[in-house]
Amino acid sequence: MLCDNCKEREVEIHLTKVENDTKVTLHLCKQCAQQKGFETGDSILKSPLKECIVEPRVGGRWYAVGEDGSSCETGYVIAWQPPQVLVLAWQINAEWQFDPELVTEVEVRFIAESADTTRVELEHRHLERMGGKAAEARDAVDSPGGWGAILGSFKICAES
Ligand SMILES: [Zn+2]
Repeated sequence: MLCDNCKEREVEIHLTKVENDTKVTLHLCKQCAQQKGFETGDSILKSPLKECIVEPRVGGRWYAVGEDGSSCETGYVIAWQPPQVLVLAWQINAEWQFDPELVTEVEVRFIAESADTTRVELEHRHLERMGGKAAEARDAVDSPGGWGAILGSFKICAES
């Protein structure tokens, strides 16, 4: 399959967005994805990541699905208040394992700055609950492959 953007190189990255219950998937080569600000980050899966699912309701599951069909829990939805706020429980520890005892919070705020500009703020809090591994976890989620990459892919979807 060829890249949706350059239509020259092979597709390596798939971005899926859900709009009015319809899934739209962008297929990009690595170069185009990087140009658009997307970087492939660390994954909790053993096989390449196919998609991340957030069920759109309080208590909904948040999980990742690999190319081989395997899945891994990430957490659950704490608050779902479109279009302003999304709060997710992140239950992946510093060793990139799901830990049902661990609950850290990811709050994403969407702030209308003008008719066609939205500021997106992301706060990942309570990392101190990871104890001695908190600094290591903070560095991982704060790295180029962490939340910055995920916000980058969100930007690609929002602008396409
Ligand atoms: Zn391309």
